[in-house]
Amino acid sequence: MSNILVVEDSERIASFIVKGLQSHGYQVTHTVNGEDALKLSAAAEFDLVILDIGLPGIDGFAVLEQLRGSGNEIPVIVLTARDSVDNTVASFEGGADDYMSKPFSFEELLARVRRRISTPGEAVTETTLSHKDILLDLRTRRVSAAGIDHDLTAREFTMLEFFLRHAGQVLSREQILSRVWGFDHDPGSNVVDVYIRYLRQKLGNDSIQTVRGMGYRLG
Ligand code: CA
Repeated sequence: MSNILVVEDSERIASFIVKGLQSHGYQVTHTVNGEDALKLSAAAEFDLVILDIGLPGIDGFAVLEQLRGSGNEIPVIVLTARDSVDNTVASFEGGADDYMSKPFSFEELLARVRRRISTPGEAVTETTLSHKDILLDLRTRRVSAAGIDHDLTAREFTMLEFFLRHAGQVLSREQILSRVWGFDHDPGSNVVDVYIRYLRQKLGNDSIQTVRGMGYRLG
C-alpha cells in the first residue's frame, strides 16, 4: 500500500486531501508543520509528499530544500496559493516534481498522485465501475445505461464515479460539492441539483434518488 505524507496547516484543506486519499486506498500521514515533516520523512518510508508552501515555522520551500539537500529523492507535489507564478517556478527549481495551485478539485490532485505513484494492483488498474444497469468506463469516461452509451462531461463523470463508489449510500449535497467541485466551492450553490438533473437525463429518472433533507442516493 502506498504511503503518502501530507504537510498542510489548513485543517479544512488537509481533511479534504486526507479523506480523499484514504477513500482511494492510500495510507496517509498528516502533519501541520515543516519541522515534523522533515522528522517524519527521515524516520519512515513514504512514496510521495504533498507539501504546502505556506506553513508556520519553516515553509515548504525550506522543507523541500532540506529534503533534497539530504539526498532524499522522494516525489513531491507542492501546493501553492492561487496563481502564484513565482512560487511555482521556485518550487520546480527547489526540486518539486509537480504542483497544484489552490483551489483544486480532489480529482485533479488524485490524477497527479497517480502519475507519481504507480503501484501495480492498486485502484489504478481498475477500468470499470458498475451498479445495476449502469456501467462506467474509467478510461474512456463513457457510461452505458440500460445498454445505451452516453458521453459525460468532466463534472458528470466525477460525480457519477463518486456515486458508483458509494452505491446505495446517501451522499449529502455538501459531500458531493466537496468531492466534485473542490474545497473552494460555494456552499449555497445549486450546481449539485443541476448536475443531478443532467445525470438523470442520461441515466434515467430513477437512477439517482432524492432523499429528502439528506441528499442523493444511487438507487
Ligand atoms: Ca498553508
